[in-house]
Amino acid sequence: MKVLFAASEAMPLVKTGGLADVVGALPKALAAQGIDVTVILPKYGEIPKEIADRTVTLAVMDVQLGWRRQYCGLQEVYVDGVRFLLVDNEFYFKRGYLYGYGDEAERFAFFSFAVLEALAHLDALPDIIHCHDWQTGLIPFLLKTRYSNLPGYRDIRTLFTIHNLQYQGVFSRDLVQDLLSTGDEAFTKDGLEFYGGASCMKAGLRFADKLSTVSYTYSFEIQGEEYGEKLDGVIRQRAGDLWGILNGIDTEVYDPMTDPNVVVPYSDSIPDKRKNKTALQRELGLIVDEKAPLIGIVSRLTRQKGFDLIGEVIDEMMKENVQLVVLGTGEQGIESMLYGAQQRYPGRIVVWYGFNESLARRIYAASDLYLMPSRFEPCGLSQLIALRYRTVPIVRETGGLKDTVESYNEFTGTGNGFSFGPASAYDLLFTVKRALAFYRKPKHWEKIVENGAARDYGWASSALLYDKLYKELVG
Ligand code: ADP
Repeated sequence: MKVLFAASEAMPLVKTGGLADVVGALPKALAAQGIDVTVILPKYGEIPKEIADRTVTLAVMDVQLGWRRQYCGLQEVYVDGVRFLLVDNEFYFKRGYLYGYGDEAERFAFFSFAVLEALAHLDALPDIIHCHDWQTGLIPFLLKTRYSNLPGYRDIRTLFTIHNLQYQGVFSRDLVQDLLSTGDEAFTKDGLEFYGGASCMKAGLRFADKLSTVSYTYSFEIQGEEYGEKLDGVIRQRAGDLWGILNGIDTEVYDPMTDPNVVVPYSDSIPDKRKNKTALQRELGLIVDEKAPLIGIVSRLTRQKGFDLIGEVIDEMMKENVQLVVLGTGEQGIESMLYGAQQRYPGRIVVWYGFNESLARRIYAASDLYLMPSRFEPCGLSQLIALRYRTVPIVRETGGLKDTVESYNEFTGTGNGFSFGPASAYDLLFTVKRALAFYRKPKHWEKIVENGAARDYGWASSALLYDKLYKELVG
């Protein structure tokens, strides 16, 4: 079976969040099931030079976008045994960042057309195009409409995976109509129309043959108004085609024994892990104190991640003898809140603004606790990485956090972390205090860490479910 992954980011080429981890790791796990996966991505300027220099040009073509014909190169490169195809157009993709430009609709409409045009230049057509998030939502729509009469294209099946329903790619209808050269018929309630605009996410949800999302709990949450982001009705209509398949992590990449970023490699030894804490305290200018519980956060700084809740109780939290390290990029209001706290607690809070893979790993390794009080969380990989690094997660019970973190029960000795239900700052504070109480009781702490280490956070079982889903798709 041949599967083409179409996505906007993938490790180890480019990453802004968990999507890149998934698109980087899942193909390897699927290969172990005998599935032949190729990943197609835009060729961003941020792709490491060492990889960009190794690309081989497979084809040069034109992509028709509205009234314009745009240059499009199709390049191939193998990275860690995975085949990547890169869509090259420097005007669209050689920029400082991956996202956040005024012409996102045009960039990803171009990418969607390019993916479908690229098929004609491959040795064989894929059985399935597996699309990820709104940036690729137009592909199932175009395949079912514009491209359906090309030889073989009608047999290609599509799977659309929702990694985060909040980002939808909604643009003005005129703009999308112009880019796609479509008539009014595409913009009905059953089509791309979304509150007067046009939605790329909805295009994926309506036109893909099957849908999936990245945890079991989130697959139900998004069918209701609270988490449905105004698309719950559309999702409910397709509930029979929607699968919830939990993400995993690449347990070879994320391994505290072999991770080159980790100062003192460790597996089950808490004393060895704590050497990483003192090393990070020294590196970042925190007070060097092996006993002080260190809480880590590596995250996009957005409301989704519950930073408003943290902001409300940060001073209360700091009354305990804790330290806090935050690595992230995002909203300015959150950044200011964190910098304010850093100034109030010198030597006890450090905020590092930016994207830094290597520091991220040292934070996962050094922290005793990992804080992730998300308002919603489709799956969340950070808590899985934390667990892999024997760092105890404190999470809100939502989406994938609910499916992966079980609150510690001191009577039965079960549980790998701490969790709370309501999105309330006081529940968060109470839960942090509860976690700290157990941190101070080594017997309990060892048990919690051990429970976390005992579980497998890899891809093997979820790859089996994707295999099953793909088989259902191709009948
Ligand atoms: P999301 O995809 O919503 O951002 P996830 O928890 O699913 O959240 O995945 C986030 C991924 O991005 C994790 O691998 C996390 O370590 C990484 N990450 C987030 N922010 C940063 C940062 N500033 N520097 C390095 N890695 C980061």
